[in-house]
Amino acid sequence: MDREFTRRGLIEIGMAGASATLAPAALAATPRVTEGSPVGVAVVGLGTLSQGQILPALRTTKRARLVALVSGHADKARRLAADHGLPASAIYDYDGFDRIAADPRIDIVYIVLPNALHAPFTLRAFKAGKHVLCEKPMATNVADAEAMVAAGRAAGRKLMIAYRCHYEPGNLAAMRHIRTGGIGRPRLVVTDMGRQADLAIPSDAWRLDMAMSGGGALADMGIYGINAARYLLAEEPVAVRAWASTDRRDPRFRTVEDLIAWQFRFPSGALANGSTSFAYDATMAFQVWGTTGRIVADPGAFYNGNRLSFGAPGTAPVRIAEIDQFAREMDWMAEVVRGTAPMVSPGEEGVQDMKLMRAILASVAADGRTVATDWGYRRAVDPAAVVDPPRAG
Ligand code: NDP
Repeated sequence: MDREFTRRGLIEIGMAGASATLAPAALAATPRVTEGSPVGVAVVGLGTLSQGQILPALRTTKRARLVALVSGHADKARRLAADHGLPASAIYDYDGFDRIAADPRIDIVYIVLPNALHAPFTLRAFKAGKHVLCEKPMATNVADAEAMVAAGRAAGRKLMIAYRCHYEPGNLAAMRHIRTGGIGRPRLVVTDMGRQADLAIPSDAWRLDMAMSGGGALADMGIYGINAARYLLAEEPVAVRAWASTDRRDPRFRTVEDLIAWQFRFPSGALANGSTSFAYDATMAFQVWGTTGRIVADPGAFYNGNRLSFGAPGTAPVRIAEIDQFAREMDWMAEVVRGTAPMVSPGEEGVQDMKLMRAILASVAADGRTVATDWGYRRAVDPAAVVDPPRAG
């Protein structure tokens, strides 16, 4: 049965326990993907992330398989296709992208383009009848993000946002430590996500352009902290206030803010302090204080080498498995498409972050005024409950 959850299948990719949380609705509208065959992925945009992380990860995935490349640079696409054993017929350019509708090899379109191109290519992929895995941030504004969710629903196809930390063992261990009472009642989350951006690097140049990125450091790195505060606390903020500090004489910050610090208030009474910048020393760190304990993750969201401790700085680190987050994320999406795993990071999850970023920028524009943020969104599936990382050896 191609739509049936099998516990064996879940165990194989480290998802034992997932089936207990699945509602029948999770199985609806899945396409006919044959039992046992890997799900075909087309990667759109062959830039830094695709070449550095995604294509290498697709050499190790168990459920997902690279079947096509979409690029504006034919030479690069041909070289990468040859590296990955793909035929010429598996290469598309952006103008010819819609022809994927007639390509039965492609089940999932993985969109790894600059942020402003996520929405148009998501809509085109749904029109072609494909599922979409889309990089974060899912769009550059809330209206586009909501249109992406609506298009997926109308097409009866899955939209997953590539929030890799939902599948990363350290973040999952932190979530589970909190859920099992390891720090008592969580009271404060602190997230700091940023680095020095460089206008001379093409992949940074578009990130420093508001129209292409939707928000500079906030949209690129701050989003990790926003998302982390929400999944660590397993609740949604009801209010935010934020300040920015941006040197407009710095050519990097002609259209986007630089340093932003914000504070979320949660229904439980917990608070979260977040910061992001494209002009401070590189960091992807978070900490959580509870009534009886503390979590320190520094780095807490790198591709690998994350360090997690359950105690003050200096406490012995928790052993966490080193896995390829990108491979795991794509295998998860493949299982979602097959109907054998629940959707953990759906489009709605991305919309919530888009709305929170809009609220942060609204507060910044109003010199730190409090902005209400309870729009009624509640996460459907807790990653800590279903994504079960393999134990460190
Ligand atoms: P890059 O600029 O390195 O790559 C983007 C690619 O998109 C380009 O190489 C190009 O590929 C294609 N492209 C198409 N149109 C344009 C255009 N107008 N301008 C520039 N590029 C264009 O970006 P990244 O790979 O760093 O980021 C891509 C996406 O991945 C972003 O949304 C980013 O937020 C996300 N990301 C996520 C990470 C994560 O950890 N989850 C980490 C890094 C990035 P081609 O030449 O093949 O056409």
